[in-house]
Amino acid sequence: MLDKGCALITGAAKGIGRQIALTLAKAGYDIVINYRGSEEAAERTRTECENLGAKALKIKADVSNEAECEEMFAEIKKEFGQIALLVNNAGITKDGLIMRMSAEDFESVIDINLKGAFFCSKNAAKMMLRQKYGKIINISSVVGIVGNAGQANYSASKAGLIGLTKSLAKELAPRGITVNAVAPGFIVSDMTDALGDEQKDKLAAQIPLNRLGEAEDIANMVEFLASEKASYITGQVISVDGGMNI
Ligand code: NAP
Repeated sequence: MLDKGCALITGAAKGIGRQIALTLAKAGYDIVINYRGSEEAAERTRTECENLGAKALKIKADVSNEAECEEMFAEIKKEFGQIALLVNNAGITKDGLIMRMSAEDFESVIDINLKGAFFCSKNAAKMMLRQKYGKIINISSVVGIVGNAGQANYSASKAGLIGLTKSLAKELAPRGITVNAVAPGFIVSDMTDALGDEQKDKLAAQIPLNRLGEAEDIANMVEFLASEKASYITGQVISVDGGMNI
C-alpha cells in the first residue's frame, strides 16, 4: 500500500464525506474521520477504511468550535506527526425564505459551513506551512455559484467558501500548498432518498446530464485534486454537477 500521509475529512461519518474517506483510504491515505453526532456511523466508516488497508482514526469535534478544532489537530499531530490533506466537507442546511429566516438559522449555517472550514484550515495551514507541503479541498456547492431561493444562509456560506479557497490559495502557494473547491450539484443522499420518484424526476429534469450525482462523483474529483496529477491546479472551483451551472 502506498503511504500518502494523513487525510482529515470533516463530517465523514456518512454521505459524501464517508465516500471521500473510503476513496482516499483505497488510494493509500491514512484517514481521520471527523464527526459531531453520528458516533456509530463514524465507527462503521472507520472500520471500512481499515478494511481497505488504511490506518483510520475517528475524532469527535464540532468544527464550529475553535477549541475543539485545536484539540482535533493536536491529536492528529500526536498520532500521525503530519497532515497531507484536509477536506472541509462538514455542512448543514437550515432552509427558509428570508422573511422567515431567523438570525440563529443564518448564523448556525455560516458557523459550521464557513467558520468551521476557517478553523480547520488555520490549524492545517500551521502544520502544512512547516512541512512545506499539503492540500486543502473545500466542498462548496452549485448554489454557492448560482444562488437558490430559500437558501440565503446556505448559498452565502458556500459562496464564502469560494472566497476562502481563492484567498488561501494565494496565501499558501509560495510554500507549495494548493487550495481548491469542489462544487457539487444535486447528489444522492439521505435527503434525496426521502423524496418520491416524481420529485426525483423533477430534480433530474433540471440537470443537463439528466440524473442526480453520486457521492462517488465528488469523491473521485477530491482524489484527483489531492493527487500529484493536480499539482499545478490551485484556487479553482470545480463543478461536479451534471452541467447544472452551464
Ligand atoms: P450529510 O449526509 O448531512 O453529511 C454532513 C455531515 O456533516 C454529517 O455527517 C455531520 O456529522 C457533519 N457535520 C454537521 N455539522 C457538523 C459540525 N458542526 N462539526 C462536524 N461535523 C458536522 O450531507 P452530505 O450530503 O453528505 O453533504 C456533505 C457536504 O457536501 C456538505 O458540505 C454539503 O453542503 C455539500 N453538498 C451536498 C450536496 C448534496 O446534494 N448532497 C450538494 C452540494 C454540496 P454528524 O452526523 O456526525 O453530526
